[in-house]
Parts: sequence; C-alpha cells; structure tokens
Amino acid sequence: AKERGNNTLQAYLSTLTAGTYKEFSLANDFRKALQNEEFVLYYQPRLDTITRKIVAAEALIRWEHDDWGLVSPVEFIHIAEETGLIVPLGNWILKTVCRQIHTWSKSGMADIRVSVNISAKQFLVDDFVDSVWSILREFDVKPERIEFEITETTIIPNDSAIVESIRRLRQMGIAIYFDDFGTGYSSLSWLQRFELDGIKLDKSFVTHVPVRWAPTQIVSSVIRLAHSLNLTVVAEGVEANGQFAFLKDEKCEQVQGFLFSRPLPVEKFEELLDVGVLH
Ligand code: C2E
Ligand code: CA
Ligand code: CA
Ligand code: CA
Repeated sequence: AKERGNNTLQAYLSTLTAGTYKEFSLANDFRKALQNEEFVLYYQPRLDTITRKIVAAEALIRWEHDDWGLVSPVEFIHIAEETGLIVPLGNWILKTVCRQIHTWSKSGMADIRVSVNISAKQFLVDDFVDSVWSILREFDVKPERIEFEITETTIIPNDSAIVESIRRLRQMGIAIYFDDFGTGYSSLSWLQRFELDGIKLDKSFVTHVPVRWAPTQIVSSVIRLAHSLNLTVVAEGVEANGQFAFLKDEKCEQVQGFLFSRPLPVEKFEELLDVGVLH
C-alpha cells in the first residue's frame, strides 16, 4: 500500500509542472507532514440563534509548515484527495476530534457537538463506516457528539454506496449536514436522494442578506424548504449584525461566522466555551 501511495504521489507531482513552486513544495512534503503530525485542528463555534449559546463547533484543519507557516486547507486538501492520502489524514482528523471530545468530557466542559468535514473520497473506501465506529469506540465518544459535513462538489450524487454509508452513519447516531448548500449543480436532488439532518447555507448567499434582493429571497425560501423537509439550517459566514438579525427572523436555527468568532486554536476555543454565550 505504501508503494502504491508513493506511485500516486509521483504521478500527481508530475501533473504539477504548470503549478506554482508552493503547490509543488506542499505536495512533495505532504506524506512526511502526515508522519510528523504537522497538522492542527482549529475550532469555530456554532451558536443557537435564539440563546446565542455555543452548541457545536466545526473542526477546521491547518498545516503548520516549517517554511510556509500556517497553511490553509484550501491549499492542501485537494492534494490529499488526489493522492489518496485523505484517508489516513481523515482518520487522523476524526481521532483528534474524538480525543478532544473525550478530554472535554473528563474535564467537565460543556457537552457540545463537533462537526467534521468529510471528503467524498473517504466515503468511497469500503470500510469507512466501520473505521468511524472503531474510532468512536477507541475514545469512548457517543455518536451523538459527532456530525459530518459533506459537500456536493466532491461527491458523485448517484453513488448508491454513499447513500448506504450515510444511512448507516445516521443509524449509528451521527448527524449528516450538507455543506455549502446552494452552490453546486444539484443541491435539490441531493435533498431528494439522501436522508440528511440539516444543511449549511453557504456564505456566498449569507453575505448579501438582507441587502440584496435575490440572495435574500433565496435564503428565506431555502430556510422554508429545509424546514418543510424537517432539516436543521445552519448559516455560515455570518459577519454582520444585520445578517444575524435577518437569519433569526427567518427562524434559521444556528449561526457560525466571524461576527461571533473566527476558527480558534483549542486553548482559545476553550476560553469561549467557558463563557458559553457569545454577544
Ligand atoms: P468549509 O467547510 O465551507 O468551511 C468554512 C470556511 O469558511 C472555513 O475556511 C472558515 O474559516 C471560513 N469562515 C468561517 N466563518 C467565516 C466568515 O464569517 N467569513 C468568511 N469570509 N469566512 C468564514 P477554512 O478553515 O479556510 O476551510 C476552507 C475549506 O477547507 C472548508 O470549507 C472545507 O471545505 C475544507 N476543510 C477544512 N478543514 C477540513 C477538514 O478537516 N477536512 C476536509 N476534508 N476538508 C476541510
Ligand atoms: Ca464545512
Ligand atoms: Ca461550508
Ligand atoms: Ca466551502
């Protein structure tokens, strides 16, 4: 398996001739970074719109690179996906989240849920659901404490294997959210095909409420549509009070964004969690 990994990495590197030096360097260093655990998770709070209490956090990965500093996931998740290294990376992410939840439980911190971004490539691995189950058991974490966020862009909507994995994960008790809702080509058929727990309204819409007419109408309608299907709505990218007030009026259940907090390293996030309610 290691050899195959190296070959796919070589193949990927050879496609990068037109890429930048930074891209090449990141792709080249990726496997070593995984071995050296150069990755770190940041946590961004998700608030209940009515109480303004932190009810969940989204885990967002960063790479602490010796030469490039803190590298954004936008710059390396695609490398992980194309080389297949997203599978070991994804396992590391889930383990790190579960270890964190375990630590919080033992120290009496608030029982928040943690949402984890899952790449479609991870879903396509045969034993994905089993590996999730064994990681939860390893760290004694209840499935109700975990949520998965999946984006349409990276997923093949007709894949019955994914439908089946989602079904099994939900049966286990893990909530599934459709990330970046509205930005893909088939958001609506997703709602028909997959059984989900909620959607995350993409920030490209949220940014313009309640000022610009079309996005404002879209956001209102999508919230009503989601509610009619018994889905929870989380708005992401909330940066202004006017956006928050509008979303609250429209009965959007949860909000996340720079207005409340940026993604934070775990010690900083714990300080917020101690406060609990954000104003
Ligand atoms: P995403 O899942 O849509 O995550 C939301 C992104 O929006 C995050 O960027 C977050 O920092 C940013 N954000 C949050 N609030 C605001 C706001 O109020 N305004 C603005 N302008 N931005 C806001 P980040 O952390 O750079 O992550 C980018 C993307 O990388 C994520 O988009 C996700 O697709 C991917 N990603 C991040 N962590 C992971 C991971 O652990 N696994 C996988 N597979 N993908 C990840
Ligand atoms: Ca996400
Ligand atoms: Ca998103
Ligand atoms: Ca996104």
